[in-house]
Amino acid sequence: MTDTVRPMPASNPVAVGNGFAFGSAGTPVLEVDNATKSYPGEPPVQALRGVNLSIDQGELVGIVGPSGSGKTSLLQLMGTLDRPTSGHVRITGLDVATMDDGDVAYLRATRIGFLFQQFFLSEHSTLLDNVADGLLYAGIPVAKRRQEALEALELVGLAQRQHARPTQLSGGQRQRVAIARALIGQPAIVLADEPTGNLDQATGKSILALIDQLHQAGSTIVVITHDRAIAERMPRRVEILDGSIVADTGPGVSAEQQACPVIQSLVPGLRPELSPGEHP
Ligand code: ADP
Ligand code: MG
Repeated sequence: MTDTVRPMPASNPVAVGNGFAFGSAGTPVLEVDNATKSYPGEPPVQALRGVNLSIDQGELVGIVGPSGSGKTSLLQLMGTLDRPTSGHVRITGLDVATMDDGDVAYLRATRIGFLFQQFFLSEHSTLLDNVADGLLYAGIPVAKRRQEALEALELVGLAQRQHARPTQLSGGQRQRVAIARALIGQPAIVLADEPTGNLDQATGKSILALIDQLHQAGSTIVVITHDRAIAERMPRRVEILDGSIVADTGPGVSAEQQACPVIQSLVPGLRPELSPGEHP
């Protein structure tokens, strides 16, 4: 990755809430189109088998599935950290398959925020610089990065600790810093992989409450989890099993999936748009 600032093709920022949506109104921020992923081996591992998923600006989506079902593989495709073996991934309407690695890195740096189970904070840097580093590859000067970092720390309630180091914080506070880093630069989408996996239950709940709050303020967030109780808090739930999406309560749900009684029983609250009398 060079320091060159790459102008993005076809970006059309529209202010939404306190965040930004890219692309014209109605363009999903993230589309996964018939994506497969196989890892080489004897035999190869078929981790994703033709996944279709479309996420609109402002959605809060829980993706739930057991260990080995393909959640992290899907997150890596959605986050452009990996490319699908076949199929397409579009971020704010831009097809990753048509872009070179440098453009993909810039797209990732400016439009996607990541939150992981491990906080990945540098112990040698202040909270402010840990968050500011979230924009390191976006070609933004350091003073501006720090200014935006302070705003992001304010969002998670840690602005007054900006000069502290991660070692001085509790686990929950560290995850708040990681959230601030994911949010800096107002990415089109935040992808979280088991974001409460390293936290005790009470702290995990406070992080989920913060995620709710950010969603209400306009952020688009995908939370990947093996924990059904966490997924059930989300307005939209997508269930993945053996590399396939087997249920989706959201707008992208196919008529076939809606009609499948097995899938309806897998996810409580599927088809919430129907009034009780309308259920079959
Ligand atoms: P989850 O996050 O739901 O646990 P993963 O996406 O990590 O699922 O894994 C899905 C499947 O792909 C599993 O069978 C896993 O062993 C396999 N897998 C994941 N990453 C690799 C890899 N780099 N090489 C080979 N197999 C992998
Ligand atoms: Mg995983």
